[in-house]
Amino acid sequence: MTKFLSRRYKDLAPYAPGPHPKDRKYIKLNQNESPYPPSPAVKKALSDSLVDSLHMYEDPFCMELREAIAKVNDLSADQIFVGNGSDEVLAFLFQAFFDEEQGVAFTDITYDFYQCCCRTYNVNYEIIPLKEDFSYDLDAFMHTKKGIVLANPNAPTGMRISLDEIEKLLQSSSERLVVIDEAYVDFDNPTCIPLLKKYPHLIVLQTFSKSRCLAAGRIGFAAASKEIIDDMRALKFSFSPFNLSALSIAAGTAAALDTDYVKQCADQTIAVRDKFTEGLKRLGFHYLDSHANFVFAMHPCISGEELWHDLKDAGILTRWYNEPRIKEYLRISIGTEEDMLQVLKTCKEILKKRGFC
Ligand SMILES: *Cc1c(COP(=O)(O)O)cnc(C)c1O
Repeated sequence: MTKFLSRRYKDLAPYAPGPHPKDRKYIKLNQNESPYPPSPAVKKALSDSLVDSLHMYEDPFCMELREAIAKVNDLSADQIFVGNGSDEVLAFLFQAFFDEEQGVAFTDITYDFYQCCCRTYNVNYEIIPLKEDFSYDLDAFMHTKKGIVLANPNAPTGMRISLDEIEKLLQSSSERLVVIDEAYVDFDNPTCIPLLKKYPHLIVLQTFSKSRCLAAGRIGFAAASKEIIDDMRALKFSFSPFNLSALSIAAGTAAALDTDYVKQCADQTIAVRDKFTEGLKRLGFHYLDSHANFVFAMHPCISGEELWHDLKDAGILTRWYNEPRIKEYLRISIGTEEDMLQVLKTCKEILKKRGFC
């Protein structure tokens, strides 16, 4: 850091994305991207006439996209805020609602970006560890006065909590916001969006980067009460009024409306995941019960770091976290059926070379 960097940022802890090495062709299973292309409707939406219109600013209210998202979720457009990926939505949300006084609580093993946001915006945060079995300690969350951010299903564990449990959390206090990050909701999980009718202190986040096959399109959204969305919009117009490109708005609108395609891809991913975990079990792996498009797995005969390394040498990228409690695990995104057969085959060879245990 130079001497010029503002003192405001002395505690920055930048997010470390999964690497994109280009030295060879890899099976890339380290960022939970979809192995499938976006809906064919997206290609149609990115038309020549759209390109011709790029000389004009896009609608900063992003109405077309918000209306599409509202329609498929049975909400009104004034309950939707869209961002350049849900990371940007998170950034707006942390800036808008959390600070040194109004802190926020999240768990020790979850999406790293929550902590990054706290460091960037000087938010006071409390870490409430997951229980021994990696489930959420909801009692501890009930007792905090801070805002709450929970990923459901959680990353990188893939474990989820029920809507009943979330509702109990919402009922325990209406004085603090509860943010539920549903990045993996489409992999056959219930959404809390219907709870918005009853709970004005709930914010639900979703992204187009995983199940909607548009990671590079950079689109995410928050659904909440109109008043919460107005606050977020006030912030956005004070910082980056044209936060979504016309390309993202067109692609996102087409993808949002093609719910059949999303379901088809998600069903395929779930089928591949379930076959893959059976294969892992046969090889002696332990893994957590996944409700997402990745599996969090470990093998008693090889450390997480070594397995990560050996898989990389064999052309397979996975995610390893050098962090307490989860050091021995790898997070493996679910690619195509062929990708996952290759992973199993490679794991078998790696373990064989070591004579299993
Ligand atoms: C991937 C992910 C996001 C961010 O996605 P964007 O690409 O920024 O939309 C947010 N939360 C969780 C839990 C994620 O796994």
